Amino acid sequence: MNQNKTALAFLCHPDDAEFMCAGTLALLKQKGWQIHIATMTAGDCGSATLGREEISKIRRKESADAAAILDAQYHCNELEDVFVMYDKTSLLKTIEIIRNVKPTIVFAASPQCYFIDHENASSLVRTACFSCGIPNVDTPGVEPYTSVPYLYYSDSMEGKDIFGNAINPSIYIDITSVIDTKEKMLCCHKSQRDWLMAHHGMDEYIESMKRFASKRGSQINCKYAEGFRQHLGHSYPQDNILKIELKNLVTEK
Ligand SMILES: [Zn+2]
Repeated sequence: MNQNKTALAFLCHPDDAEFMCAGTLALLKQKGWQIHIATMTAGDCGSATLGREEISKIRRKESADAAAILDAQYHCNELEDVFVMYDKTSLLKTIEIIRNVKPTIVFAASPQCYFIDHENASSLVRTACFSCGIPNVDTPGVEPYTSVPYLYYSDSMEGKDIFGNAINPSIYIDITSVIDTKEKMLCCHKSQRDWLMAHHGMDEYIESMKRFASKRGSQINCKYAEGFRQHLGHSYPQDNILKIELKNLVTEK
């Protein structure tokens, strides 16, 4: 087994990781893991009033602040909101981050979700995990990383696909003990919370996170949980390293 205790949450937009997997990251941190959080975009469409550059600057800082709570490093792939494409340029940038971070565990967005940005982000990370070790995939100045990481997909938004069908996790992590850390990280995204209030009339940024974590928790008889599905295709690690690391906090279904 690869002994490098590095985990990378590589989702799509700033705050996606905080909603979907920050509790699990906090638990891994407690077990001595080095955490990295990457986003595909800087969240340049996440404001009703500020221009793209201005809001991006704010959201990069918010993401770095949230990551700092776990002593984690934040990386931005600098793609654009609504235009996260599965193309060569985006893929090479994604591969470069994975080669630099050298993670043993990667968390990605759900392959099925309400927003195609999330689905494309998921595909980019999936391919990057597989191809980061291929020498002829050239990222100038950055060496190949030859281990295929363990790849876990986070829950989709509201745990459903675009037809409204439930997407059930196969792995649940009891995050009850670190829900305050997850909340603290999410609170760093003040601009997003304000933007949601302005555009959707939602004054429940934190409450919606807790409600969903509570729903996942109720499925394994604990207060709060996060759900995942593991990528088990050819060439990816087949055992469940989260179970090895987090033991009885993990429920497999
Ligand atoms: Zn998102």
